[in-house]
Amino acid sequence: MKIYDVSMEINEDMKVYKNIEEKKPKLKFLKTFKKDGYNESRIAMDIHTGTHIDAPLHMMDKGQTIENIDLNKLITTCYVLDLTHIKDAITKDDLIDKNIKENEFILLKTKNSYDKEFNFNFIYLDKSGATYLSLLNVIGVGIDSLGIERSQKEHETHHILMKDNIIIIEGLQLKEVPEGRYLMYALPLKIKGADGAPARVVLIEE
Ligand SMILES: [Zn+2]
Repeated sequence: MKIYDVSMEINEDMKVYKNIEEKKPKLKFLKTFKKDGYNESRIAMDIHTGTHIDAPLHMMDKGQTIENIDLNKLITTCYVLDLTHIKDAITKDDLIDKNIKENEFILLKTKNSYDKEFNFNFIYLDKSGATYLSLLNVIGVGIDSLGIERSQKEHETHHILMKDNIIIIEGLQLKEVPEGRYLMYALPLKIKGADGAPARVVLIEE
């Protein structure tokens, strides 16, 4: 069984959205083995830092919260699309020949997976691509950038997907994963009432 860990490592110097300093996690040892005989630490981090799942509440005031997302949508077959040739945005035209079936979970692999620093011109999913995927009733869409859209004023891509309760995963690391279908485990922390949560996401080659 081959397991691909497609999650970002959480650390204090990690890549964060638009390099905003406060989005960087803080890990602190409150107890240390030397002083207290054991280690115990605390982490403070933005919910949208690293690999994470957006709940509909993120963009819709009365939207679903993260702990209520059905696990059947998160432990499921997914389809990784190799879109590493795209230079700006993923559009409907880029998706139409990919033979996407209804009710699939789609992961968009782009050249973002190769960026070591935050790239302000990261590849994103545009309105036409989001509309196409929502018409196919996909379960969810994951991408290898810290945002599924870049600076779209009305957050159109988020809204198009979230109004149909399509799950969004951001911050995937897909460099090692060839195009194809995998079994995905994407498990967000069960934080009551939250608009998203960090997640460990793994893909299993069947
Ligand atoms: Zn997010």
